[in-house]
Amino acid sequence: NANGGGDPNNNRVVFSFEFFPPKTEDGVDNLFERMDRMVSHNPSFCDITWGAGGSTADLTLDIANKMQNMICVETMMHLTCTNMPVEKIDHALQTIKSNGIQNVLALRGDPPHGQDKFVQVEGGFACALDLVKHIRSKYGDYFGITVAGYPEAHPDMIGSDGVATSENYQKDLEYLKRKVDAGADLIITQLFYDTDIFLKFVNDCRQIGINCPIVPGIMPINNYKGFLRMTGFCKTKIPAEVAAALEPIKDNEEAVRAYGIHLGTEMCKKIFVHGIKTLHLYTLNMEKSALAILMNLGLIDESKITRSLPWRRPTNVFRA
Ligand code: FAD
Repeated sequence: NANGGGDPNNNRVVFSFEFFPPKTEDGVDNLFERMDRMVSHNPSFCDITWGAGGSTADLTLDIANKMQNMICVETMMHLTCTNMPVEKIDHALQTIKSNGIQNVLALRGDPPHGQDKFVQVEGGFACALDLVKHIRSKYGDYFGITVAGYPEAHPDMIGSDGVATSENYQKDLEYLKRKVDAGADLIITQLFYDTDIFLKFVNDCRQIGINCPIVPGIMPINNYKGFLRMTGFCKTKIPAEVAAALEPIKDNEEAVRAYGIHLGTEMCKKIFVHGIKTLHLYTLNMEKSALAILMNLGLIDESKITRSLPWRRPTNVFRA
């Protein structure tokens, strides 16, 4: 069974929201207001991204702290490990630990803007596996560790024809297993628009003994140019029916957003039928599409603002 996890006690679908650090102070204020509203719908956690090479380190740390202790949502901070000395990585981990954050998404990272290759700093880490090992050896079981998984294989493994060879796909899976064996608790996937590819990926992971929850990363299509940019960057397959549906409406932003909500909803329905009860929404710091998908799925009720506790004791979401 391709069970991706969820709440084993009541079979409820659990969902999470991802945000990134805005560029301006006003943007940060707006983000907190939006986050506060979105958290009222009870996501199991929210996460904040980390700029490649530590480019947003201070801001990400500050936002993560406020998410955990001011917005009072279970928080996961992304952390990339390349182009960064180990001391800087430990500073980040110590800081979130002292702020009561217990969840990290351990990543290699992409090269910083303007560079096409990442640099392994002297004595530093080369890949996410190194970071997972480091976190487990230095911090024991304190952190719940999530890692990235790639249903279509990592873009580096994808050829000019847009697909990974079966050999590269298999190598990618085996490497993912090493990240889990080294101590990762959870996998969140890269965005995808072909649900069958995701379902096959989950089954392939199970076949090679990856048993942790695998959470589908869903990025609602908000505008056509952004969609092309992201799918191009990540080398994501665009199914023919999605391309055909978008072509006649590509200049109508509202119609594109409505289609994105419809598509996101249908993808999730198909995934849930296969016993997967988790959902990670790449919000791109926007609220409407993510909430509309959750409403369509019957997972939230906008008329009910269920948030009541002003403070929640931090708990680790991935470990008992
Ligand atoms: P790794 O897991 O280290 O490796 C990437 C690929 O390289 C592997 O899939 C494998 O094919 C190959 N590989 C690496 N090491 C080995 C090895 N030893 N043996 C064999 N193969 C190997 N980027 C950011 O900068 N900030 C973020 O906040 C951020 N958040 C993300 C969240 C999610 C859910 C995802 C899916 C991606 C995110 N990224 C982020 C992008 C990510 O940094 C890039 O995709 C990066 O290129 C790879 O990171 P990784 O952790 O998957 O790398």
